[in-house]
Amino acid sequence: MIEISGLTKSYGSTTVLDGIDLQVPDGRIAAVVGPSGAGKSTLARCVNALERPTSGSVTVHGQDLAALSGKDLRRARQQIGTVFQSASLLRRLTAAQNVALPLRHQGVAEPEVRRRVGELLERVDMLHRANHYPSQLSGGQRQRIGIARGLALQPSVLLSDEATSGLDPESTRAILALLTELRDDLGVTILVITHEMDVVRGIADHVAQLDHGRIVEQGPVSDVVRRS
Ligand code: ADP
Ligand code: ADP
Repeated sequence: MIEISGLTKSYGSTTVLDGIDLQVPDGRIAAVVGPSGAGKSTLARCVNALERPTSGSVTVHGQDLAALSGKDLRRARQQIGTVFQSASLLRRLTAAQNVALPLRHQGVAEPEVRRRVGELLERVDMLHRANHYPSQLSGGQRQRIGIARGLALQPSVLLSDEATSGLDPESTRAILALLTELRDDLGVTILVITHEMDVVRGIADHVAQLDHGRIVEQGPVSDVVRRS
């Protein structure tokens, strides 16, 4: 479970997030939607512990991320897989090497890396593109590889930060189906950050609307989407 409470983030005198409260129960998908500048990326960085809140807290499985450091923080961060916009694959590495990266970084033994990379590529239906470079893949395929890499360390929580932006509708649908499958098959808890309302309709159990650093509305998708 992800529990965000009273989360405030300021840079100098600029308050970017102002008292955010949001909970994502285990095995659910919540979405944060909002226009550009609303504070979505900042929220994402607080959830994967790239930033510390100015006040308030982000708790993942009962652990307050801001209270952790060193090895404990690294371990907690492994629990949180992140999928970014497609640009984040390393261009000089193949699809398989990109997926293998977090495992190698962890010092996982090579036969185990091989096995896990195969499983991950299969899960995202990309085994047939294992040896392609990012430039040889479509945007949707790159995103699948990004998801496989985000899952490499078997996180229980997945943060999807604009993972479908720039994709065509068909690739978007495929990625959303994949995220839904991860929730259903593996019980992964997913926080989707997006500026696309269609994405929210397609996937989320719960939605929060962010505007100027505040949640202006949240609830079940059927309620919130109907009103907006
Ligand atoms: P979104 O992802 O919704 O577009 P961001 O979280 O990127 O929003 O940014 C929200 C606001 O916070 C913007 O006005 C942005 O200029 C400001 N902001 C983001 N990061 C910083 C920073 N490091 N220093 C100062 N202002 C920032
Ligand atoms: P490297 O030369 O860095 O080992 P590879 O592309 O051969 O690069 O492999 C990267 C990782 O992905 C390795 O652990 C490899 O075993 C695994 N891998 C590569 N291709 C496949 C594939 N088709 N199926 C499963 N795993 C693969």
